[in-house]
Amino acid sequence: MPRTDPSQPALELWPRDHDLPPRWDGLPVQWSTWGDTSGVMICPPPKRIDRCAHCGSAAAAQINIGRIWTDKHSAPTAIGRARLRGGKQLVGLLTAFRCPACEHDHVLDPNGQSWDLDDSDYTDDGSWDVAGT
Ligand SMILES: [Zn+2]
Repeated sequence: MPRTDPSQPALELWPRDHDLPPRWDGLPVQWSTWGDTSGVMICPPPKRIDRCAHCGSAAAAQINIGRIWTDKHSAPTAIGRARLRGGKQLVGLLTAFRCPACEHDHVLDPNGQSWDLDDSDYTDDGSWDVAGT
């Protein structure tokens, strides 16, 4: 009989639980769908070609917008002032860029800070600002 091989090495190379972090600093994120930056007007226009920090590709990145919502069950006190009485409220927007060559993601947070994502960011816990990195 043929020997069965249940292993899927291709999947093990990319063990992501989620396509993008489901949470950002503990708050739920609602992502939209991936789009192509080549047809998107960015204002102000970038002054330089944004090369992928991972593989150096200058190919136009895929872009995805995420909305960060307050979570009345887990909202940290730091954003308490943004919390409505028991309801969820939009905290800010995330912009994710995905390199079409290596699928490396980086994310702009609501403060304009850029973050490189690693595998730990795609778990149910989502992405956290790890001090010292
Ligand atoms: Zn890349």
